[in-house]
Amino acid sequence: MILDGKAVSEKRLEILKEQIEESRLYPRLATVIVGTDPASQMYVRMKHRACERVGIGSIGIELPEDATTERVLETINRLNNDPDIDGILVQLPLPAQVDTTRVIEAVAPEKDVDGFHPCNLGRLLAGSPVFAPCTPQGIMTILKEYAIPTAGQRAVVVGRSIDVGRPMAALLLNADATVTICHSKTRNLEAEMRSADILISAVGRAKFVKPDMVKEGATVIDVGINHDEQGKLCGDVDFEAVRDRAGAITPVPGGVGPMTIATLMENTFKAAKLRTCDSTVR
Ligand code: NDP
Repeated sequence: MILDGKAVSEKRLEILKEQIEESRLYPRLATVIVGTDPASQMYVRMKHRACERVGIGSIGIELPEDATTERVLETINRLNNDPDIDGILVQLPLPAQVDTTRVIEAVAPEKDVDGFHPCNLGRLLAGSPVFAPCTPQGIMTILKEYAIPTAGQRAVVVGRSIDVGRPMAALLLNADATVTICHSKTRNLEAEMRSADILISAVGRAKFVKPDMVKEGATVIDVGINHDEQGKLCGDVDFEAVRDRAGAITPVPGGVGPMTIATLMENTFKAAKLRTCDSTVR
């Protein structure tokens, strides 16, 4: 079974559009990009387009490539204090001179629609997330949409970044899976991967996952965005080789990527809803 993230995201965006219209909350997202990295610019453009589609207002702030940490922090502070902004998204990676940790920690937790602030990551780990990072949350949505069970299942997450691997493991644990996190120092990696009922690859290496690393019938979720030898977009999974062995598999493109953006829209609407009640995530 191909897990069609594009189709699921389309459906979620349509539902969200109606919910936003009915709510009359007029959510607003601010994006902050530093420099001119073409991939980052493309991702930000896609996020603004999704905002437009569902009825979220958006503003884009572009800072120069040589912007200092202080300059980025000033921008974040201004957005934190702007009552017209519900969500703040800082496009990563930031240029080397900018202190990414300070920037992430400067975003007000109640506007942290990316879910990277330690306050939100802590809540996620405690089992009561407010904003979970968009990519792993989007993966949970795909699993749910396709009724793939997680409770009691053995899930193996390859990758331990704060944007994907770690929060993915926390979400799966919260959904009652038995979770193993693997990384570049893991011994017997292939055996660990082969033990998975649900295998999530967030490594960033083209065609890293081969059929002999996958249990027959497993659900394989490919987070990677890479390019193969021909320069063609591909994931971490050798899709053509693995698809017959997997029970369910996400393609690249059209799998996890669209879900990340749809989840960002959902998180922004959630931030707008939080704004209107007394509850806060501080
Ligand atoms: P990072 O580079 O931050 O993390 C990669 C992880 O993979 C690290 O934990 C690293 O281990 C591990 N790793 C690297 N090589 C190996 C190996 N040979 N064996 C086992 N583990 C290994 O990447 P991200 O988590 O940010 O992203 C991963 C991929 O997902 C990238 O291709 C990225 O572009 C993509 N991505 C896609 C998104 C989407 O919306 N589809 C969103 C975000 C990311 P260690 O920690 O030991 O170094």
